[in-house]
Amino acid sequence: MKPLTHLLFASLLFVSIGSAKDGDFQRTKDLSKDDYSAALEHCEANLPKVWDVLNSIRENGVNVRLTGERKMGPGKASGTDQIVISTFFLTKDLPKFPEDRLVIVLLHEFGHILFNRETNRSQRNPVKHEFFAFAYSIKAAIKLAENGDPGPLEQVIKNLKLRNDTGKPKDPHTIAIKELIKTPLWTSSLAQLESE
Ligand SMILES: [Zn+2]
Repeated sequence: MKPLTHLLFASLLFVSIGSAKDGDFQRTKDLSKDDYSAALEHCEANLPKVWDVLNSIRENGVNVRLTGERKMGPGKASGTDQIVISTFFLTKDLPKFPEDRLVIVLLHEFGHILFNRETNRSQRNPVKHEFFAFAYSIKAAIKLAENGDPGPLEQVIKNLKLRNDTGKPKDPHTIAIKELIKTPLWTSSLAQLESE
């Protein structure tokens, strides 16, 4: 397998070159400077794909803010330029969150940012938001698989199938997934994974 490069993520994520200036790494007040630095160092040293995708997102004009909070889940996008990431999920080597799943989480959150950038308020609702974010993460994962790394695609398919079966019926995520699995994108993602 070819090692993933920052360039690949950059080319995969760049949608409007030049329109945004680089974002920054930041921390919320609940996170000490030491824990913040340790989390960034952990990522850079142990999670090279996560590190690349974090930096590519940042270079697309998004401030990446680390928090010690874990109740919110691994990541949360807001507006057009901020993603908050929980250091708990980044640094604890959780069996349910291997690096390839974290890559998908980051792509999903970046999908929310893109949707906010590309639409106005009247075009959005929670289901459309989740649909766009899931679809974006699948498209990006297909490109990564085509470039030699099927890991993230495996994770996104596995977890979307699981949420389709077990998600709360009224949760916008579940509704969006049920729509998504009827699309040609879903069919081609399964075909791509089978061809690996
Ligand atoms: Zn989402």
